[in-house]
Amino acid sequence: MMSENIPYDAIEKKDSEIFKYLNLEVERQKEVLNMIPSENYVSKAVLEASGSILTNKYAEGYPGKRYYQGMSNVDEIEKIAIERAKKLFGAEHANVQPYSGSPANAAIYYALLKPGDKIMGMRLDMGGHLTHGHNVNFSARFYKSTPYVLDKETQMLDMDEIRKLAIREKPKLIISGYTAYPRKIPFKEFHEIAEEVGAYSMADISHISGLIVGGVHPSPFPFTDVVMTTTHKTLRGPRGAIILSKKEDRLANVEGLDEKKAKRAKNLALKIDRAVFPGLQGGPHMNVIAAKAVAFEEAMTPEFKDYAKQVVTNAKVLAETLLDNGVKLVTGGTDNHLILIDLTPIGVGIGKEVAVALENAGIVANMNTIPYDPSTPFKPSGLRIGTPLLTTRGMKEEEMQIIGEWISRIILNRKDAALQKKTKEEVKALCEKFPFY
Ligand SMILES: *Cc1c(COP(=O)(O)O)cnc(C)c1O
Repeated sequence: MMSENIPYDAIEKKDSEIFKYLNLEVERQKEVLNMIPSENYVSKAVLEASGSILTNKYAEGYPGKRYYQGMSNVDEIEKIAIERAKKLFGAEHANVQPYSGSPANAAIYYALLKPGDKIMGMRLDMGGHLTHGHNVNFSARFYKSTPYVLDKETQMLDMDEIRKLAIREKPKLIISGYTAYPRKIPFKEFHEIAEEVGAYSMADISHISGLIVGGVHPSPFPFTDVVMTTTHKTLRGPRGAIILSKKEDRLANVEGLDEKKAKRAKNLALKIDRAVFPGLQGGPHMNVIAAKAVAFEEAMTPEFKDYAKQVVTNAKVLAETLLDNGVKLVTGGTDNHLILIDLTPIGVGIGKEVAVALENAGIVANMNTIPYDPSTPFKPSGLRIGTPLLTTRGMKEEEMQIIGEWISRIILNRKDAALQKKTKEEVKALCEKFPFY
């Protein structure tokens, strides 16, 4: 019934249990204002490609160098995906096989580092990612993590402090790119620091890659050595990731190697490819690679540029509305698709409680630590919201003002159940005006 635009006929016949929850999920996605900044609504074309018969195909290896037969079509698909990724980001090399962001980061470390080498990324509680050297993650178990932090006053990157730390610690890899940072990232300065201390520069642009290709955030290319992005966030593609890089390894040590070995040692592209397969992965998910190719083509259109621009405009309007209502924001605003709300003036450690209150009102977001959070990661004092999905639905400045008012009043009256119920009805009515399939 409800899935009129997304037929699940075969599932309905074969598996009533999963069918039931799929339908309920379609219903939920339609009725809520989804403001989780790492999610998006993919196009039907992307959905078709990722649900296609390519899921049946094994293709270990790379185009022209496979370990299986029957490759005539999937080789072409992967080559198209690679060419489009290179063109979209202006990269010299692309690997489109990573299953997701975390395994892609593992592949980069495996390609560039030896166990015990030092990495330097931003600390998790400041807005960094688990795979950038957090102590419960493989990245701090196999490598030595010396994280940097944000400036306590401005809550922004302090490049002088980051440079000092890099000079003192001499990491082998410096990582920029975050999960909860609302401001622009100076990729060029990060690369210059890496050059100064003899490190590789890596940018994890998972959250902002759609903004970069849309021209509303500076690109890490042409200077950054290796760039990783998930494909399912602002880029609006299928769940997965890609690794982009330079062709040449600036730091290759070729002392005493013969010409052939030296050439191999300098081949950064080959190191990345070999780390992904056979280093860490087996067969690539060809259905997802096809969907990535479709998403890259979509991201090259003028419509996508307009989309990226509107994502940022919407976030700015939303931020202003929250500020006008007395809601405090980390860094006092945003340059990108996300806003980090500082709830401490209302209550320390109430992030979860506010996220639940908002969900009761039909607004889906997530609790998050704020820089120098006085509470714990399990009971953080922040809330992270973003505009990528609302913008895909076609919402603009006017809707952001309305939604900003709703969010403010729920936050400021977080125990008012009647208000949540009333808002939920208003949210549903707004959502009906902005269908997404
Ligand atoms: C989302 C994200 C990842 C991890 O991606 P998964 O697909 O969830 O493994 C890595 N780094 C950053 C900065 C991210 O935002």
